[in-house]
Amino acid sequence: MSTLAHIDRLTLIGTGLIGGSLALGLKQAGFVGEIVGCGRRGSQLQRALELGVIDRSEPDPAAAVAGAGLVVVCVPVLAMPAIFAAIAPAMRPDAVLTDVGSTKQSVIDAAQQAFGELPAGFVPGHPIAGTEHSGVEAAFATLYQQRLSILTPTPASSESAIATVQAMWQACGARVAVLDAEHHDDVLAATSHLPHVLAFALVDLLASRADHDEVFAYAAGGFRDFTRIASSSPDMWRDIASANRHALTQNLDALIERLQGLRAAIAVDDRRTVHACFSRAKQARDNYVDLVEEVQT
Ligand code: NAP
Repeated sequence: MSTLAHIDRLTLIGTGLIGGSLALGLKQAGFVGEIVGCGRRGSQLQRALELGVIDRSEPDPAAAVAGAGLVVVCVPVLAMPAIFAAIAPAMRPDAVLTDVGSTKQSVIDAAQQAFGELPAGFVPGHPIAGTEHSGVEAAFATLYQQRLSILTPTPASSESAIATVQAMWQACGARVAVLDAEHHDDVLAATSHLPHVLAFALVDLLASRADHDEVFAYAAGGFRDFTRIASSSPDMWRDIASANRHALTQNLDALIERLQGLRAAIAVDDRRTVHACFSRAKQARDNYVDLVEEVQT
């Protein structure tokens, strides 16, 4: 075991893609002793055991967190209130609690509700990494390498709890950034939640056409790239759309306005306006890709 190990027992509630990958990365880094897995379906917990993602399974959340120094909640965001309510009376008083939810203010509100006041050991988090696949079978140890993980500490979060959660993500190879929860939700509505809604809506639209078989048969690589994220979990994205609906609807309104402008320009064959939009977008996208590649090298 590496010298990085300092968490004797970690409880993972939700052993799907995100939780399972975290467990595998932490095991590979020697960051934890035992990992206790908790989830809804016994079959999935059994699979997590077989794949070596967890060391022990405990279906009851309260029993699962007993004695754990670090608890990581990796379930869809609207499942978090019930999980927090179940674990609040059972957690070690000095335990560190974090989550991986894609929205942050809803998770903080849920913790406040369950714990009465926000615990010093609670440090909300969100890894900016994932795939369109779900479940423990999709988990892999390197998911977080060279990726960003955002922490949104509350005013009550202690320095030592923040340091523990930061060390956990760094052990998996991630960089860590700290953001205010509201700002996180606004930014992620634009860069993640909006594109997912767009991909789901586009595929749903095309699938509803009478000639959908032909439409999909002739789709090219660009369609596959653009719609990859429409293969993501509908349960998870329903929860995200609901939990971040305020910021998401603002971003949707802005996009609809932009699309209407573009539609009007295309309708009257205003090629200058169309070209200007495409050129600005290409430049911005190329700059973004350069930046990502620079950070990753
Ligand atoms: P996933 O692969 O579908 O795994 C979800 C896990 O949560 C499973 O262990 C599932 O248990 C459990 N679960 C689902 N509904 C539950 C409920 N109502 N009560 C208790 N447990 C429940 O999903 P994931 O991709 O790992 O996502 C987990 C979290 O990570 C979500 O909050 C999501 O917003 C966040 N996140 C996802 C991504 C991504 O790209 N996927 C990226 C960053 C953050 P069973 O298998 O037994 O049903």
